[in-house]
Amino acid sequence: MRILITGAAGFLGSHLCDRLIASGHEVIGMDNFITGSSENLVHLAGNPRFSFIRHDVANFIFVPGKIDAVLHFASPASPNPASPFGYPNLPIQTMKAGALGTHNTLGVARAHNARYILASTSEIYGDPQIHPQREDYWGHVDPIGLRSMYDESKRFAEALTMAYHRYHNINTGIVRIFNTYGPRMRLDDGRVIPNFIQQALKQEPLTIYGDGKQTRSFCYVDDLIDGIEKMIFSDENMPVNIGNPDEFTIIELANLINEILKNPAENIYQVGKVAGDDPLRRQPDIVRARKILGWDPKVDLRSGLLKTIPFFKEKMGIA
Ligand code: NAD
Ligand code: UDP
Repeated sequence: MRILITGAAGFLGSHLCDRLIASGHEVIGMDNFITGSSENLVHLAGNPRFSFIRHDVANFIFVPGKIDAVLHFASPASPNPASPFGYPNLPIQTMKAGALGTHNTLGVARAHNARYILASTSEIYGDPQIHPQREDYWGHVDPIGLRSMYDESKRFAEALTMAYHRYHNINTGIVRIFNTYGPRMRLDDGRVIPNFIQQALKQEPLTIYGDGKQTRSFCYVDDLIDGIEKMIFSDENMPVNIGNPDEFTIIELANLINEILKNPAENIYQVGKVAGDDPLRRQPDIVRARKILGWDPKVDLRSGLLKTIPFFKEKMGIA
């Protein structure tokens, strides 16, 4: 297959490029580097099955030659308002990537009658009142809240994807990705695992926002890419959650990272740091992924952190 991947220079996009090339496909990466980095793709330079187009997906997309699949992953993805790379500081770009970028990439899929995969998110469930979150849950989202630029652009993107499926009969699929971590995350994007690993490596206190009783369910990147690869090659058109259902409080995550990295510093609680609509609980129901894709995550949190820490050590220059 000849596959277009938007957001190819990002954390997930670059892993997807690697996986699909290793599986024998030809990949065209597209990115404007707003939150991604060419460092994530440098190892693919010169690979005959990889090419790259620097382009903003909010603008009309033209790709020469036949395309068999379009994977739309371009979007800022970190909720951290303190980071210049978080979507709170890129609100218009985030909405354009979700709205105009989804429209343009769906247009490519329509022109080529290609399989289309939208990278959606657990954020479309908002601060959920149903636990764990199943795909038929409509969500609890503030349309003008502090995360609304992301949540609503992804909700619009899902609606547009379903419109192209129902009206133009495009073979679309929607993956609702839950918190994923691993090598190639930005050190400065402000998400919890990069922050905690770097703080613990420096033997500094871990910064827990709020009371730390909020929960997340963390998926190691290789597991996530397995699930997405299965979704690309399925004919599933309805949304599928992809995430690891093992749920942890942020305090439990902090204690685990401190234990692994033998960090004696006491955690600090930053009440004022918690964003107004920081979801209190998040856990995927993955019954559909198991049944439809035959997919199950394999890497537990401790093992995934042990695979992730060497990347941070290298980037921080720690032996
Ligand atoms: P990332 O920031 O590392 O990657 C996103 C990439 O998209 C970057 O390389 C960025 O430069 C590019 N991009 C953004 N806007 C663009 C535009 N207008 N034109 C071209 N390129 C553009 O983030 P990520 O964590 O790899 O996330 C990738 C996708 O997965 C996003 O759509 C995100 O919403 C989704 N997602 C990620 C997670 C997660 O835990 N990492 C969870 C849920 C959903
Ligand atoms: N968080 C934290 N300390 C940090 C960064 C994040 O306690 O240094 C919390 C954050 O408030 C949220 C959770 O960790 O409750 C996950 O945050 P992240 O930004 O990784 O992703 P989210 O799931 O909120 O999109």
